[in-house]
Amino acid sequence: MNWEPDEFDVTRHDETFSIYEEPLPRERPKFATPLLSDGLTYLKGVGPARAELLTNIGLNRVSDLLFYFPRDYVDLTDRRKMEDLSEGHLQTILGRIDTTERKSTRRGSMLRMGMICEEGGYVEAVWFNQMYLVEQMGHGRRLLLTGKPRLDQNRWVFTHPKVTYLEENDNPNAALDPIIPIYSLTKGIQQHHFRKIFRESLSIYVPLLDEIFSPDFRAQNELLPIHEAVPFIHFPPDFETLEKAKRRFIFQEFFILQAALAIRRLQHQTMLSAPPLPVSQKIDTRIRRLFPFTLTEAQEKVIREITADMSEPVPMNRLLQGDVGSGKTVVAVYAMLLAVANDYQAVFMAPTEVLARQHLRTLTQMLEESRVKIAPLFGGQKPAERSKVLAEIESGEAKMIVGTQAIVVNDLTFDKLGLVVIDEQHKFGVRQRAKLKSIGKTDPHFLVMTATPIPRSLTMTLFGDLDVSVMNQLPPGRQKITTYLADENQREKWWDFVRKKLTEGRQCYVVVPLVEESDVFDVRSLTQVYESLANGPLEAFSLAVLHGRMSNEEKEHVMMKFRTGETQVLVSTSVIEVGVDVPNASLMTIENAERFGLAQLHQLRGRIGRGKHPGFCTVFSDPNHPDALSRLQAFAKTTDGFQLAETDFELRGPGELLGTQQHGLPPFRIADLKRDREILQQTRTAATEFVRNDPGLAQEEHKKIRRQILSRYGKVLDLGDVG
Ligand code: ADP
Ligand code: MG
Repeated sequence: MNWEPDEFDVTRHDETFSIYEEPLPRERPKFATPLLSDGLTYLKGVGPARAELLTNIGLNRVSDLLFYFPRDYVDLTDRRKMEDLSEGHLQTILGRIDTTERKSTRRGSMLRMGMICEEGGYVEAVWFNQMYLVEQMGHGRRLLLTGKPRLDQNRWVFTHPKVTYLEENDNPNAALDPIIPIYSLTKGIQQHHFRKIFRESLSIYVPLLDEIFSPDFRAQNELLPIHEAVPFIHFPPDFETLEKAKRRFIFQEFFILQAALAIRRLQHQTMLSAPPLPVSQKIDTRIRRLFPFTLTEAQEKVIREITADMSEPVPMNRLLQGDVGSGKTVVAVYAMLLAVANDYQAVFMAPTEVLARQHLRTLTQMLEESRVKIAPLFGGQKPAERSKVLAEIESGEAKMIVGTQAIVVNDLTFDKLGLVVIDEQHKFGVRQRAKLKSIGKTDPHFLVMTATPIPRSLTMTLFGDLDVSVMNQLPPGRQKITTYLADENQREKWWDFVRKKLTEGRQCYVVVPLVEESDVFDVRSLTQVYESLANGPLEAFSLAVLHGRMSNEEKEHVMMKFRTGETQVLVSTSVIEVGVDVPNASLMTIENAERFGLAQLHQLRGRIGRGKHPGFCTVFSDPNHPDALSRLQAFAKTTDGFQLAETDFELRGPGELLGTQQHGLPPFRIADLKRDREILQQTRTAATEFVRNDPGLAQEEHKKIRRQILSRYGKVLDLGDVG
């Protein structure tokens, strides 16, 4: 790690903790009372030029600066003389630069510095590929080196130590803090500038900070007061105190979000109304008669939760998380039939047309004997057909509407909309759903289903305003899926096995990754795989190709033939990833598996092992991507989606799962969903209770919290004017 990074690593600054929104005041006399809204030039050590530089990282006022937290810290607590150094421990030693030398080596350009230790002796430090460091290393400059030294031919060498430059008159024993903050820099500003600015300003401005949490609340949640947390986060006396200071802000950040979500949940319950759609014994029996199997306990539990929600005059707002193959569709169908039995309409939406058509077929089959009219809504419909369907929806003749999410963008007019079900909706966060809710004249009940289990901490944020049902049980009779990580020389053996199973009547998916979104869509690799199989190991069988660039009719045609078993092997891109249900298909080959994420692999594998036959999934991957190995091993080890979700989270962190664009929430400033899971849970409990006790946050001592919630989440979560 280096002190003065050459690439200016600038953390985006936003106003989470900033209190003032008014424009900067014009110049005021220097001796006026200090205000948090002061411009930075009011600080000692900041002239107009430096203030201008700080603007580049979003620092305009003192209040911005106080909340510009260090991105790291250096531990100077273990100070040693040379004779006391020991290998492998983090230690700090004081001295002056003697020599610097540059060299080209196999590892790149090397910088070697020799230092005369102030308390006797000589040590060396080396850095690779950090030549910019040399600019500051004037002969005789005084500094502290911090790192883990090793003894190399009787000389102590620090590799990539941290450097703290000292001023000539600094007393390194008295003046230096034991833990040094490291800030993200901008051109022209160095660490010691920041340290100086903070040293000058904290005592003047910290007393002016506004505490948003009451003493009781702080005591209850073990939070440091802001007047201690801010100075400690910049100059922590020890690491324990630093953790406490950080915790205060992490807690605050999560708490504000959780309170916003709690308010949204509450508003949803109090401001919206939906038709109560109660279930009766008779309705229940009539619905169940349509199902060809007995429901699992998990399905029963979720149906109880859903029917309880739907019987209320407030809209259900529920997320159903069920592992792949757990049987979510039938739960959705139950809810839809309940709406229809109450003479309301129900919408069923899926992300892909293949999946929407599958749902359409399921519904059509189940309702063959009944008079319930189902309206399909798909992209490629002819205008005449489409207007007919729209008219049926408007008149209320059509009771069930099935289609892709494209439905949403059409302003449909419903007769009486009672329920909206969205299948496979793991990619949508809180924000997108706001739009969907405004369908129709009344507020419908709302059921979101996702087959990609999400780690709990993400559920609590992305879907934090929803009630969550979990279905982690598969229907009985499911067979085990065995997953193999294979290498090239096992191909022959695998295809032998596949041939045997195909002859026994099974079917097989071969999945090839392709970047379908790219402009130059490369079907070649897919076709190549197809041809090499059709003219090679699977010559005797019938194969077909499926990919996203085919027209919907083509896709439907291919799927139909695969479903009926006429096609035995489907060579496909990941278009089959979501929801496709062909129980007789029990084999899967995944090519270049390193290109898929864990959730996606799990989804893919979920296509097999759906029927009575044991599933076999063989994964081939490019050995040049060793980084994918831990992911693939986790994948091979378990078929439990909830466990895989947690592993994925461990391996990747929330970044990718929590892409800002996907969910629309502003990024966290200091909190980290992975590291701070425990605090997240605590804030959820605290926030729920907080909002329950004062729904409008109208109490005087809650006003400041309310203001912060509104400024950060008011728009995003559409909170309107709370209270
Ligand atoms: P997913 O949760 O992945 O959407 P599906 O709803 O597609 O799962 O169901 C997977 C398969 O399990 C389907 O073939 C469905 O008919 C079957 N299934 C669902 N529930 C049961 C049950 N209770 N007993 C037996 N089979 C079931
Ligand atoms: Mg499904």
